[in-house]
Amino acid sequence: MLRNKIFRKIIMIVVILSAISYSKAQNKDLPNVVILATGGTIAGSAATGTQAGYTSGQVGIETMIAAVPGITDLANVTGEQISNVGSQDMSVEIWLKLANRVNELLSRDDVDGIVITHGTDTQEETAFFLNLVVKSNKPVVTTGSMRPSTAVSAEGPLNLYNAVAIAADSKASGYGVLVVMNDQIHSAHGVTKTNTTSVQTFMSPMHGLTGAVIYGKHEFYSKPHGIFGLESEFSIEGVTSLPRVDIIYTGVDSPADLVDMSLKAGAKGIVIAGVGNGNMNAATLNACKNAAEQGVVVVRSTRVPTGYVLRNAEINDDENKTIASDELNAQKSRVLLMLALLKDRSLEDIQKLFYTY
Ligand code: GLU
Repeated sequence: MLRNKIFRKIIMIVVILSAISYSKAQNKDLPNVVILATGGTIAGSAATGTQAGYTSGQVGIETMIAAVPGITDLANVTGEQISNVGSQDMSVEIWLKLANRVNELLSRDDVDGIVITHGTDTQEETAFFLNLVVKSNKPVVTTGSMRPSTAVSAEGPLNLYNAVAIAADSKASGYGVLVVMNDQIHSAHGVTKTNTTSVQTFMSPMHGLTGAVIYGKHEFYSKPHGIFGLESEFSIEGVTSLPRVDIIYTGVDSPADLVDMSLKAGAKGIVIAGVGNGNMNAATLNACKNAAEQGVVVVRSTRVPTGYVLRNAEINDDENKTIASDELNAQKSRVLLMLALLKDRSLEDIQKLFYTY
């Protein structure tokens, strides 16, 4: 009995003390930004500062925040670890966990913005996915780094500083999900990774930069293209998995049986990274027509880094029951198609989604 009483008193004291230290740490004049860490090179480490080989997702969120001097002058920053993976291992399961957490946090009055740290390999896909399923206009910023935290001139800390500065700015509301890397602000719709190792890897070749940021000071140039955030019709409420959509990359004399294999493996959608304007050889097109006739949704995208894939250009989409990706690259076409296939839609409706998102 007495032991129970003492125990309860100790618990009460601990709760009061943590409330006091929390309110001391919170500066009421600053916005509240939550950093959700998923892993990637920004959290990577290597044995020396100059080696190319390293392991992604080694450093925890608290260590990352501690490595950025001045970050707490920008906002009341708290961190949560969602996952700690190289983004080649990003998964639908982590996406859903991340997106649900973002929606939960942004619905609160005491959260003003979110920063997500993420590997660069698949960052554009995660940013685009969140752009379509986050139900808030508050700022959401993804960032990462090309150099691990242990490298000479690691750029992660400044990227994180810049990302927090933007997430803390109410003027960044209504831009959808932003990708902030190397002093540049990109939209989730426009951005793509263009270099395997350089710190200047993210570019927005079709739409240009959304803005720029220098040591936290930032300026927006243009509103992102497409529909996103509160206007997006997609929702992950109650969703526990996404339909399988495969990407098939094509080239000279590409084997058509890759399409048949995908169909046999149970894909609900196939995205062709075609040549030029979403073209493919006759055998592949024939296999796609067959897949489409069996109910698989086939999207023609392209392996070319810029430009549109136009409906009924060299390939007759009406006849082959295919969809033209418009300006989405293969990896973003896959994200849109996975979400589109959560519900029964006509091919006409799916084509419209590619024109609008
Ligand atoms: N594979 C790593 C990743 O995406 C390397 C890319 C990076 O973060 O820079 O997590």
